[in-house]
Amino acid sequence: MTVAVPAPGTFRSWQDAAVALRFPRDAFIDGRSVPSLDGTRRSTVNPATGAVLTEVAECGERDVDLAVQAARRAFADGRWTRRSPRERQAVLVRLADLVLEHADELALLDTLDAGKLIADTTAFDVPGTAAILRWYAELIDKLPDEIAPTAEGELALVRREPLGVVAAVVPWNYPLEMAMWKLAPALVTGNSVVLKPAEESPLSAMRLAELASEAGLPDGVLNVVPGAGPVAGRALGVHPDVDVVTFTGSTPVGALFLRYAGESNLKQVWLECGGKSANLVFADTADLDAAADGVIAGIFTNQGQVCSANSRLLVERSIADALIERVAARASAIVVGDPLDPATTMGPLVSSRHASRVRSYIETGRREASLLLGGGPVPGATSDAFVAPTIFTDVPPAAVIAKEEIFGPVLAVMPFDTEDEAIALANDSVYGLAASIWSDRLSRVHRVAPRLRAGTVSVNTVDAIDVGVPFGGFGQSGFGRDLSVHALDKFTALKTTWIKHQ
Ligand code: NAD
Repeated sequence: MTVAVPAPGTFRSWQDAAVALRFPRDAFIDGRSVPSLDGTRRSTVNPATGAVLTEVAECGERDVDLAVQAARRAFADGRWTRRSPRERQAVLVRLADLVLEHADELALLDTLDAGKLIADTTAFDVPGTAAILRWYAELIDKLPDEIAPTAEGELALVRREPLGVVAAVVPWNYPLEMAMWKLAPALVTGNSVVLKPAEESPLSAMRLAELASEAGLPDGVLNVVPGAGPVAGRALGVHPDVDVVTFTGSTPVGALFLRYAGESNLKQVWLECGGKSANLVFADTADLDAAADGVIAGIFTNQGQVCSANSRLLVERSIADALIERVAARASAIVVGDPLDPATTMGPLVSSRHASRVRSYIETGRREASLLLGGGPVPGATSDAFVAPTIFTDVPPAAVIAKEEIFGPVLAVMPFDTEDEAIALANDSVYGLAASIWSDRLSRVHRVAPRLRAGTVSVNTVDAIDVGVPFGGFGQSGFGRDLSVHALDKFTALKTTWIKHQ
């Protein structure tokens, strides 16, 4: 189904399209949309209004087991995995096309379900999802395997083989795109997948499964089980017939998956977890306006609900006032409002519950540092999921708001005097997902970047990301890498076939 959008780009047209939207309601198991076995459903809510969008099937352990069995059957009989790379490519390219054909519908689902700006879901999330899928699909027939050097009369073939049943457990901040980070490399290499979306944002994943079927993905190869983390998520984590879990979410839940694996079948576990990324601005930055733009994008994009959000601003003391003045001016100009309005630049957080958690960090921050901007209620807010862009200055390095992942629009500013101090502050975190450096001195950039403990260091920009480069962290940000050719390592094992032919 496509959604008719009368005049794309206007608030009114998106509101009309939202009213006409069909919401998927069921799990997707073995090629069919099905309710949960016991009929339980969970309301999924639009955080911008508090209104219930629909009642989604709530999968329990038995539903998860059915999905894993379907995935196992599909893998075992080779209906997907034994197809040639080019045949798999054709199906997945078709799916990428379908994602784009249904772009408005998928963008609306994520906007309504998770409060994400329609300006972002249409410009980034949906096209990005299709682009990631297309990139992996187009890659897969261009990766030869290896022949190892051996003595004459012997031939050692080293091949990449799919692992089997992949469980993908994903968060709500980029519902469709996070799912595709996992699905694309897992499916293209021939695995079967059971995907568990977050409780807050199941709709786009459920719709994606229907589109995958339409694209020709065989039954059982992609299953979607909406449900509670501690129930459906746990059931995947402890299932004896799941070969690998790929998880994106919080660090404490990531730790649980390691435990689940140890208690069950030693399945492989790949974790992409939280972050508290530092943005280092040195006094030799020529363009402070560009740096200020970067600071704003780094912390306020997606309402600050970004794993790699640059939530700590470390600024050299001599330029601190000049930079903070620019940042504050830009933050004051952020338009907080209805995410369906393309003119809005900040929407609600994913839920009232999450917003109240973020507000409690703001209360802690008031006791720890100086509140420069925000912190209070959003005038005219249509629900209690809205949090104003908030900036704290003079944040002590040991403060809670400097240490813990808030996952909201809250920036902690800390001054530094020397390069070594900046590096020490940046690395003073249990996380290590990303960092940014602003400097116009090449020698400084090359000195500082290798010393930052972060999976991605962006220089004179923030959050540099592309399907062609690996994304992932050090420390408690997790391990393994999403995106790029390296993500294929998570979903394949190397197999040697040694042939003695003399
Ligand atoms: P979360 O850990 O609460 O939930 C993530 C997923 O795990 C959801 O599907 C949830 O249902 C499931 N889950 C929750 N409890 C579970 C349990 N006991 N057993 C099994 N599964 C369980 O995270 P969230 O609140 O959805 O997302 C925010 C977090 O995700 C932040 O910490 C953020 O940094 C992180 N994140 C990381 C990346 C990355 O690439 N490193 C990207 C996006 C988000």
